Amino acid sequence: MEILLSVIIVGSVGLFFGLGLGIASKKLHVFVDPRISKLQDILPGANCGACGYPGCAGFAKALVEGKAKTTGCIPGGSKTVHEIADILGINADDSNEPKIAAIHCKGGKKEALERARYDGIEDCHAATLVGNGSKVCPDGCLGLGSCVRACPFGAIHVNENGVAVVNPDKCTGCEKCVASCPRKIISMIPKVHKIFLACANHERGGKVKKYCSVGCTACTLCVKATPSRAISMQNNLPVLDYTKEENFIPAVNKCPSNCFTDLVKVRPKANIDTKCDGCGVCVDACPVKGAIQGEPGKRHVVNKEKCIGCGLCLNKCHAHAIALWGGLGYDSGDKSRRQRSSSINA
Ligand code: SF4
Ligand code: SF4
Repeated sequence: MEILLSVIIVGSVGLFFGLGLGIASKKLHVFVDPRISKLQDILPGANCGACGYPGCAGFAKALVEGKAKTTGCIPGGSKTVHEIADILGINADDSNEPKIAAIHCKGGKKEALERARYDGIEDCHAATLVGNGSKVCPDGCLGLGSCVRACPFGAIHVNENGVAVVNPDKCTGCEKCVASCPRKIISMIPKVHKIFLACANHERGGKVKKYCSVGCTACTLCVKATPSRAISMQNNLPVLDYTKEENFIPAVNKCPSNCFTDLVKVRPKANIDTKCDGCGVCVDACPVKGAIQGEPGKRHVVNKEKCIGCGLCLNKCHAHAIALWGGLGYDSGDKSRRQRSSSINA
């Protein structure tokens, strides 16, 4: 009888608490949108914070709540934009073109003068606090790797010459490095362009030359090589306007101080085939004297040593006799004619 009574009491208590928990779970239930976990699955998981939210989970939640844009995940790129849009059932907006970081200095130990030896903490911010760093140039890369440590993707390293360099294949465009540089010499450029000015010093001419052999002297030759005005001088530095879709190769070639960085290691060379009728229009279009030679009415030839691969001659040729061989430089609308070799080394 006592055993029966104990079973009834324990059973009743169990039933009472079970009912209580059941009611509480219904009353206190918090709905978690299943799309959040689906979004987390397709996000890169780097938790880099480039989207402005605390990690990928925060970004996924903001997306579901309609607070974040589908293009917010820069490392994820266009593929992720479309996957996010599919999960949310909305239109993808991937108008943001991919960007990469550009470090606007290449004056390392070989090129840029030091005025002191810095033996402190290996950090660019710390070095800046001690007399604005060891370099004479007030805008030169200090090479102590604050940007290297800020990059969540291992896309920056300090080279043997003591200058930070971005690996364009690893850079996802997250922009984390931009704020990490106390010199403010990192900016984002459209990935497709591959050319940028590797100098951030606003001082003029001779003064710059005294302490950096690859510093911009504000000679304006690059501006003159770009008649479209896609390069303009601002405070003694050329500024490249990438929205003008300009071909900056002639500017790189004209610069006497070698201030630009061209991420394409081997540019292609123009080749003129038998369709050439010797009209000579390409000679006028070419920015390099002597790169195209020939007599009027006879097939012209390209001097491969002089050709810089800018491709400015291509569209001028009415006979479609010119192609670029050996790399980038073709126009996407006419790849087959121009890209005869795919030895791209960008
Ligand atoms: S050509 Fe070179 S040195 Fe002259 S303004 Fe342009 S970047 Fe500066
Ligand atoms: S690609 Fe054509 S225009 Fe450009 S440098 Fe070569 S020959 Fe001259």
